[in-house]
Amino acid sequence: MTSLPTMTAAAAAGAAAPRAVLELENVTKSYGSEPPVQALGGVSLTVAAGELLAIVGPSGSGKTTLLHIIGTLDRPTSGTVRVDGVDVADLDDRGLAALRARSIGFVFQQFFLAEHSTVLENVADGLLYAGAGVAERRERAAAALDAVGLGDRKGFRPGKLSGGQRQRVAIARALVGRPAILLADEPTGNLDSASGAAIMELLDGLSAAGATIVVITHDRELAAGMPRHVEVLDGRIVHDSALPEAA
Ligand code: ADP
Ligand code: MG
Repeated sequence: MTSLPTMTAAAAAGAAAPRAVLELENVTKSYGSEPPVQALGGVSLTVAAGELLAIVGPSGSGKTTLLHIIGTLDRPTSGTVRVDGVDVADLDDRGLAALRARSIGFVFQQFFLAEHSTVLENVADGLLYAGAGVAERRERAAAALDAVGLGDRKGFRPGKLSGGQRQRVAIARALVGRPAILLADEPTGNLDSASGAAIMELLDGLSAAGATIVVITHDRELAAGMPRHVEVLDGRIVHDSALPEAA
C-alpha cells in the first residue's frame, strides 16, 4: 500500500493516508479541430486533503486548461476527473455547477471584489449558494476574516485596502464555504514581493489548519517554496515532488 505511485507526501511520511479530494487520471484536453490543439496530453494527479501544492509551468504549458478542468469549469476530452470523490462525468451541467459551488473556492490574480459592498458583505457573498441565512452568513464571514487577519477591516470598502489586503478578502470569500479545494490562479501576480510573500505565508497557515490548496503559477521560485510542486510542460506533468523520481 505504501508503495503506490500516487501516494502523497503525508503518506510517504508515514501518516495515515488522508482522503483524496482531487483525482485526475490520464486527463487529456484538445481544442478545436482540423487540426485539434492538444493542451493536455495525459495528466494524472492526486491531491489529498490538507495538501498545499503549486502547479508550475511556462506560458502555453497548459496551466489555465488544467485550472479549468480541476475547477470543473470545463470537461476533459478523455480521462477521469474526481472532485471530492465525485466523478464529473456523472454530472450534467447543473450538477457540475452545484459541485463547483459546494466544493471549490476560487482565487484569481485580479481580486474581483464588489467595490460598493463592505469587506464583510464581500465575504458573506461567498455563502450565497450554501443555503445559509443572512445572520449565519455574516457570522461565518466574520470568522473567515479573522482567519485571514482582517478582523478589524470588516466595515471597510475594498477600495480602502492595499492589494495584499484585497487578496486576503478574496481568500476569505473563497474559504468561507469550507470548500474541499481552494484553487488559486497566480494569487500573487498583482502584488509586490513582500505582499506576495505574506499571501503565501497565509496560504501555508490555512493549509496547516486543514484547507487543501492548489496554487497555479508561472513563478518557479514561489513554487519551489511550497511543500509540493508539480511541473507541467507541453501539457504533461514532467515533475511531481511528491512522487519518487523516475529512473
Ligand atoms: P498556460 O495557461 O500554461 O499558458 P494554456 O492552458 O492557456 O497554457 O494553453 C495550453 C495550450 O492550449 C496552448 O498551446 C494554447 O495555445 C492552447 N489553447 C488554450 N486554450 C485554447 C482554446 N480555447 N482554443 C485553442 N487552443 C487553446
Ligand atoms: Mg494561462
